[in-house]
Amino acid sequence: MRAGSACPDGTIAVIGGGASGVLVAAHLLRAARQPLDVVIVDSRAPLGAGVAYSTGDARHLVNSPSCEMSAFGDRPGDLIGWACAQGCEVARSDFVPRSLYGRYLSHVLAEARRQTNSASGLSWFREDVVALTRQSRPDGTAFVLGFAGGGHLDAGHVVIAVGPPSPRAPWSGDAELIGHPGLIEDPWEPRSLDRIGPKASVLLVGTGLTMVDVALTIAGGGTNERSLYARSRHGLLPLAHRTTPVEAWRGRLETAETARELVRAIRVEAEKIEFAGGDWRSVVATVRRQVPELWSALPVAEQRRLLRLGLRYWEVHRHRMAPAVDAALTRLRQGGRLDVGPGRLLALSARGAKLRAQIGRARGDEVLDVDVVVNCTGATGGYPGGSRLLGQLVRTGLATVDGLGLGLEVDEHGDLVGADGASDPGLHVVGWARRGQLLESTAIPEIRAQAERLARRLTGAHP
Ligand SMILES: Cc1cc2nc3c(=O)[nH]c(=O)nc-3n(C[C@H](O)[C@H](O)[C@H](O)COP(=O)(O)OP(=O)(O)OC[C@H]3O[C@@H](n4cnc5c(N)ncnc54)[C@H](O)[C@@H]3O)c2cc1C
Repeated sequence: MRAGSACPDGTIAVIGGGASGVLVAAHLLRAARQPLDVVIVDSRAPLGAGVAYSTGDARHLVNSPSCEMSAFGDRPGDLIGWACAQGCEVARSDFVPRSLYGRYLSHVLAEARRQTNSASGLSWFREDVVALTRQSRPDGTAFVLGFAGGGHLDAGHVVIAVGPPSPRAPWSGDAELIGHPGLIEDPWEPRSLDRIGPKASVLLVGTGLTMVDVALTIAGGGTNERSLYARSRHGLLPLAHRTTPVEAWRGRLETAETARELVRAIRVEAEKIEFAGGDWRSVVATVRRQVPELWSALPVAEQRRLLRLGLRYWEVHRHRMAPAVDAALTRLRQGGRLDVGPGRLLALSARGAKLRAQIGRARGDEVLDVDVVVNCTGATGGYPGGSRLLGQLVRTGLATVDGLGLGLEVDEHGDLVGADGASDPGLHVVGWARRGQLLESTAIPEIRAQAERLARRLTGAHP
């Protein structure tokens, strides 16, 4: 298959080569009964790494135990087996470095390519897709992908696996701050943290997992004297996993009609299990699997309320730190290197080479004069964000942003719903862009399940 080929039959284009795109491609190749051309389009290398697994910092660990991070739902030991074959002893409850996990995903793709039937194939175009259009062909509806570099690709099916929107710093609209050398808008930009001086004072805006990664990278080495302040509205840090696995909670929540009822029901079950000598984490693990059902049962106004009032609390309990990461962060805090607290960034202004941050707190504002401010708020931009492709899809009516701006409107199978309200059986969405529908759609277990289901559907393989 070539770019510009007029033969879309059997061609499935996967836009995005992060974990979602790679898992879709690998499951398609494994499930293929008929010859299938799978084409991944992404300018970013290596395939599989995306933002999450391209970190070279060995202190950055995955945030789930290795038995939950397999590429295969029915083979929880696959990652462990592969890691051991590489000479890394990994147990079920270990949290592997994210760079190792990125290599695992590359291996999964390479294996799927090796094992697929001989007439099927995989190609990778190192391009950004900037346009997607439908074209009518005598052999049925097909699509044309337009590349930033000018080429194009025809496909019979398209999988949109583009991940979250780019981070958008709270100060990005402030013209006076543009180009200030102390501002770091995207800490995942390669080498963006290198310019922080060894004695710098640093304000980290956000206290979630991105902040934890950044704090470990810039202060965790012990060879510098940087002082760090982390602030967010709630000042809540992600909680930690236990070092030993927790027993599963076998209960089930009834769907609720209001956000308040739902939050209360989760809290009651967590308290009951703690009272009985168990662990709240087991309730969170079970409820996580029920989230799409609980979420979709709420009216939109209540979903909005849940996002405003309850999401941050859910996230700190659900997206937890590996025990070793928690220990490293605690050392930084106890050593006086990292100060974490509540406070909303109200204003930021340049004071020569320094930056002055005004932080709103319940007991009076706080003023911090620092050398560097790093945006650690994560993917806060909302869809379609700055993506040329998503902007074009929405403009042309092929896609619509869901009512809460969390992702794209999809039907129950994850097929894209256009402005006319109809879903397109040739356009499929995997990962982050399904958050509006599922809420939990960003971590490997959820992405893996979506990829497996889609591959079975597109290849006609039995469930
Ligand atoms: C720092 C971090 C750590 C994480 N740690 C974990 C963890 O430990 N465990 C876990 O389960 N989850 C973790 N996650 C969640 C993470 O979202 C998923 O695990 C997974 O990496 C998401 O992959 P993705 O492919 O959907 O998105 P991404 O990794 O963002 O990949 C999307 C890809 O699409 C490409 N793309 C975007 N637009 C276009 C376009 N127009 N044309 C072509 N290509 C395009 C991008 O270049 C990118 O490579 C983490 C997330 C982050 C940010």
